[in-house]
Amino acid sequence: MSVYRPQPAPVLILGAGLMGRLLGVALARSGHPVTLHEARAATDQGAAAWVAAAMLAPLAEAAVAEANVVRMGLYALPRWRELIASLQQPVYFQQDGTLILWHRQDAAEATRLSRVWAQTVQQLPELQAAQPLDAQQLAALEPSVAGHFQSGIYLPQEGQLDNHQLLQALQAELEQRGTALHWSHPTGLEQALAWQRQHGGWVLDCRGLGAQPDWAATERPLRGVRGEVACLYAPGVTLQRPTRLLHPRYPLYIAPKQDHFFVVGATQIESEDLSEVSARSALELLSAAYAVHPGFGEARIVGLQSQCRPTLLDHQPLVRECAPQVLQINGLFRHGYLIGPAVCDAVLEYVQQRSHDLAQGLGLRFEPCAAALAA
Ligand SMILES: Cc1cc2nc3c(=O)[nH]c(=O)nc-3n(C[C@H](O)[C@H](O)[C@H](O)COP(=O)(O)OP(=O)(O)OC[C@H]3O[C@@H](n4cnc5c(N)ncnc54)[C@H](O)[C@@H]3O)c2cc1C
Repeated sequence: MSVYRPQPAPVLILGAGLMGRLLGVALARSGHPVTLHEARAATDQGAAAWVAAAMLAPLAEAAVAEANVVRMGLYALPRWRELIASLQQPVYFQQDGTLILWHRQDAAEATRLSRVWAQTVQQLPELQAAQPLDAQQLAALEPSVAGHFQSGIYLPQEGQLDNHQLLQALQAELEQRGTALHWSHPTGLEQALAWQRQHGGWVLDCRGLGAQPDWAATERPLRGVRGEVACLYAPGVTLQRPTRLLHPRYPLYIAPKQDHFFVVGATQIESEDLSEVSARSALELLSAAYAVHPGFGEARIVGLQSQCRPTLLDHQPLVRECAPQVLQINGLFRHGYLIGPAVCDAVLEYVQQRSHDLAQGLGLRFEPCAAALAA
């Protein structure tokens, strides 16, 4: 006897940035007919998802994020590994920890952060503790900085990925699965609701900062927080893992990608200015890189890019059902890559089972629509 299985509901996704692509692939794999509307052209690499450094650093981010974000980041690390292993196109993914460095005059900041990280590990025992390194241990772990720094801290669990490869691999899978991809097709909530009246199913609003007008009237306005990065090609530098330089004015990181490419980032400026990287920021980014390794002096500047992180007042992500089966997924701030798979799994659970257990367990704020729950 054949068992009746209902056809998975159609889904319209607005925005093919990070969350739009992650959710698109996850839903298409589960058999949902997916339609995706993206405002930019398919070749445009200007969205936050492209500009990001894609560091996956739950403990390092505990310095600026609350415990639930750290928990989501921990959950996401093995999920990234699984997802990337399942994609047809290769995506560089590394989980060799983060190295923290500082100059002698900034030692007090290293002490302060060590305390923050120790408290975070107490709260979340699944986290591996930060390890202080003396000069010898530092030289053994990261020989290229030996001699320049006498001590450091190692955060062993952390990782990073190549976001350009990831976004392309997700797009390739969407195309291969026959997803209806509409590029250069800006769409607002009104049009999305009209689509839902015609097709039924779900609307997932993943427009990042592009959704700003729809949040303006709520008690949670969405704003952009400017970030700038430098992409460098430095054949003379062999940093093996993401490295953060503690500094009172410009605390920055260097994320080594493949083949001696490095992303140095990121500034964090309370501004929605999307113009080019400022001279001051470029100087800070390049100074930080040079301070970590003099080999960056001969690096070639491949690109300087700026974008804005979509941010809510409390710097927390939020999934909000603004109308039955219409989810606004936003506020990922500087943690989209860190927590993306956690948010994706929680949204999938709600779409497929009407359950928000995973969101609750992870501490992801999830506001279901009262009308939808009552139905
Ligand atoms: C400089 C910088 C560095 C960062 N570094 C890191 C990092 O190291 N680690 C980390 O975890 N996170 C990092 N982030 C944050 C991360 O990039 C974001 O959190 C993430 O991209 C947010 O994902 P999203 O899908 O919500 O939005 P986005 O990735 O911005 O995607 C939104 C998409 O919606 C599209 N869109 C907008 N309006 C419309 C419309 N009307 N119709 C259709 N489509 C529309 C946009 O074109 C875009 O493609 C960084 C961000 C920046 C700017």
